[in-house]
Amino acid sequence: MSTSTPLPGAPFFHFHDGALHVEQVPVAALAREHGTPLFVYSQAALSAALAAYQAGFEGRNVSIHYAVKANSNLSILRFFAQQGCGFDIVSEGELERALAAGATPEKIVFSGVGKTRHEMRVALGYQIGCFNIESEAELEVLNEVAQSLNVRAPISLRVNPDVDAQTHPYISTGLKNNKFGIAHERALAVFQRAAQLPHIAVKGIDCHIGSQITTEAPYLDALDRVLDLVDAVEAAGIPLSHIDCGGGLGIQYQDEKPPVASDLWAKMFARADARGYGERHFMVEPGRSLVGNAGICLTEVLYLKPGEEKHFCIVDAAMNDLPRPAMYQAYHTITGVQEAATQNLASAPLYDVVGPVCESGDWLGRDRHLHLQQGDLLAVYSAGAYSMSMASNYNTRPRAVELLVDGSHVRVVRQRDTLAQMMQAEQLL
Ligand SMILES: *Cc1c(COP(=O)(O)O)cnc(C)c1O
Repeated sequence: MSTSTPLPGAPFFHFHDGALHVEQVPVAALAREHGTPLFVYSQAALSAALAAYQAGFEGRNVSIHYAVKANSNLSILRFFAQQGCGFDIVSEGELERALAAGATPEKIVFSGVGKTRHEMRVALGYQIGCFNIESEAELEVLNEVAQSLNVRAPISLRVNPDVDAQTHPYISTGLKNNKFGIAHERALAVFQRAAQLPHIAVKGIDCHIGSQITTEAPYLDALDRVLDLVDAVEAAGIPLSHIDCGGGLGIQYQDEKPPVASDLWAKMFARADARGYGERHFMVEPGRSLVGNAGICLTEVLYLKPGEEKHFCIVDAAMNDLPRPAMYQAYHTITGVQEAATQNLASAPLYDVVGPVCESGDWLGRDRHLHLQQGDLLAVYSAGAYSMSMASNYNTRPRAVELLVDGSHVRVVRQRDTLAQMMQAEQLL
């Protein structure tokens, strides 16, 4: 990292008296007490990320629906519920989690391309706020399920604005050639069909163009494309009560400088105002940008393995804990937890930081300059989103402990899996 690049998650993760702290707590003490791998979240960082959105929405009619899949820990969900947020869910499991954490059902929107009839029935039973419909076939099935319960299902159509979010192909969702949403050209016809279905109530329109988006242009382009459809749909006599712009705003992993939510939304509203839509009810579904920089993963260096071409640093966290590098070749900043070890890195040896899992894809960072000794602790940054929520028990490794820190107050929000838990659902024949 260059000296001009702040630590991801700064100022909530910061060096103080030579040691890495989360808010007021030295992380090394947390690792000693709770073991590693260990996820540590900063509540002040969650607050600050949410405040950046809220600042952009002042005087506007906007509701925030936190995307549960980014980090579905119950205490994280409760924090957002207590701040007045709704939730964007993609499964029955996420629905039950959100409700267990105190969510208001009317503030829940249900996204995802493959909702089952069972999931639809459960969500209708709770009277959630909106189903974000992703295909014509799904619309017909939801109408049938709602009919069987003698209710009307509130829906929005997820349209595919066909804009390039310029992000990794696996997390780009707004282009024509992917499985998400209804093609722009089909959208009006599908809205007309929805308006005729007796057990469907058309509420809105939504889009979600991708994730880890670090520029403003794709959002503004998508908004224009969506507003074109709002014009057409309303001209056809189908009023829309909300416009949901999805999530996708990026965070800092390395040296990215993604737009600040409030700046982005100042521009979004300028565009909406210019087209006469500034007073509408807008919705957003941020995930990563609310939690990603609010967490780190602490891991211990088990072994150093010098090689001819490169050195390996084998740590006790792995792809089952932090799947993003293996899945998307994603970069996470990694540092030691003593400030001295983060200086003069140009002269430090080059390592691949790898986990113990039996896969060559099991790496956390490649070609990193690090001053290291066996037994050192490393911090993997930007681990608040799509890390623990994607964690698995591969190699029968327990999922890690999670802590939520508020000032000097530390709370365990998830215990490490036990060996008994990992085997509990299985039958021994
Ligand atoms: C994943 C997802 C989100 C959240 O995306 P982030 O990039 O984490 O902000 C929002 N809406 C939908 C439909 C999603 O699938």
